[in-house]
Amino acid sequence: MEGLEGTLAELRDTFKSGRTRSVAWRKSQLRAMIEFVQDNEEEIFKVLGQDMGKHPVEAYRDEVGIVAKSARLSLSCVEKWMAPRKGNIPLAFFPASAEVMPEPFGVVLIMGSWNFPISLTLDPLIGAISAGNVVVLKPSELSPACSSFLAETIPQYLDHKSIKVIEGGIDVCEQLLQQNWDKIFFTGSQRVGRIVMTAAAQHLTPVTLELGGKSPAILDSSSNPANMKVIAKRIVAAKWGSCSGQACIAIDYMLVEEKFASYLIDLLEKTIKQFFGENPRESKSLCKILNKNNFKRLLDLLKDPLIRAAVVSGGSVNEETMYIEPTILLNPPLDSQIMTEEIFGPLLPIITLNNIHDSIEFISSRPKPLVIYAFTRDETFKKQILSKTSSGGVTFNDTLIQFACDSLPFGGVGQSGFGRYHGKYSFDTFSHEKAILQRRFFPELEPRYPPWNDFKFQFIKLLYAFNYIGLLLLLLGLKK
Ligand code: NAD
Repeated sequence: MEGLEGTLAELRDTFKSGRTRSVAWRKSQLRAMIEFVQDNEEEIFKVLGQDMGKHPVEAYRDEVGIVAKSARLSLSCVEKWMAPRKGNIPLAFFPASAEVMPEPFGVVLIMGSWNFPISLTLDPLIGAISAGNVVVLKPSELSPACSSFLAETIPQYLDHKSIKVIEGGIDVCEQLLQQNWDKIFFTGSQRVGRIVMTAAAQHLTPVTLELGGKSPAILDSSSNPANMKVIAKRIVAAKWGSCSGQACIAIDYMLVEEKFASYLIDLLEKTIKQFFGENPRESKSLCKILNKNNFKRLLDLLKDPLIRAAVVSGGSVNEETMYIEPTILLNPPLDSQIMTEEIFGPLLPIITLNNIHDSIEFISSRPKPLVIYAFTRDETFKKQILSKTSSGGVTFNDTLIQFACDSLPFGGVGQSGFGRYHGKYSFDTFSHEKAILQRRFFPELEPRYPPWNDFKFQFIKLLYAFNYIGLLLLLLGLKK
């Protein structure tokens, strides 16, 4: 890629000049971001339609609305987030002051994802801007219409001296990763996450990895039967209603009690029809499979005879139009690819258990998921899920909406990634928290200095053993 070093040198100079640190700059960029989404709503719908057939309503819910909401929140809070926070000072060090001052990392790289190519690229950018960084934005080449749109349009709104959009494929990513960044924020697969982290290690660059994995949904038969229609809607929404299952927070597979399975399958089939019609291939509310590679990967999963035998609903495909019908599978082998790799598509395996409490062992003996969904009324079971499993998050009795809840950190743990963002967490993710301590020259505690003697030893021990108020009282003879 020509001129990358020059671009980075320019960005470093911009950062050094202090241009992006002021609250005025940050607010102007956040305002420009809001203007960008407002002015370009129709164009964004168009490019999302071209890349993955996303319906405008879905596009607004998952992309435009998310970005606008996030920019508005940051605009109203950025000054508060930037303000240094006072810390407590041990009494022994009085008079002194302690402060935590957020400072921008510097030049950051954001590598976006194709499935939500607007929100998963611009939402991290909002965090980086709020924190006062200069940014290279790399949209995913796998959603080409969205990538070109961002590359063309973002510079018309945002400060192009501080924010650059660089387009390209794997070769461009490789070259970008060779550079010395102050922070890398990556959304994508575990495989590329490892590549990003290896590259970042060469420069000791901090990274946030927003990865995926197999996110399960548990359905407990204690769920109120009156709520089952709502539950089915929320399950179908999380498997087929957001990017056709090509979402990191999609339900990957379900765990249900055996006696409940046929009832659930029946209800899911009815709900799929309600959402996408008798013939979902004609539905405008169902996104398409992104590209040939993804389609072939999903087709290969389905071609396995043991998997075909497990299909209980759907299962038809059309290679020409890259269509895969919403498909439900019952008890595919646990060692098959569909149960060991992230599905990332419109296939839903249902695994039956004799006792729903076994779901805890099922989940905790596998890599930590990005999210666990659980439909249950049983408060004890909820507590067990929380205390005996680990995941990026847990959502009870609903799906997907945790993503739009700015007060919650969004991110994985273990193989589903690390680091978090959304709301204030985005600001924190792109900030270094600088610790500042200021002291005066009087009074002076001599026991902290050599030469050492037994008195100083005892004094220092006391200093650590008591809280400092306690130590003061002790020294004043008011405490035994
Ligand atoms: P991917 O990891 O295959 O690709 C991401 C980017 O990495 C692409 O732009 C690609 O050019 C680049 N890349 C690929 N090979 C590379 C290499 N060898 N060196 C350098 N760069 C390389 O991911 P994807 O297919 O775009 O997205 C699917 C994955 O992303 C799923 O696992 C999904 O769960 C995850 N995801 C996670 C989140 C989240 O927020 N946690 C959101 C969306 C997607």
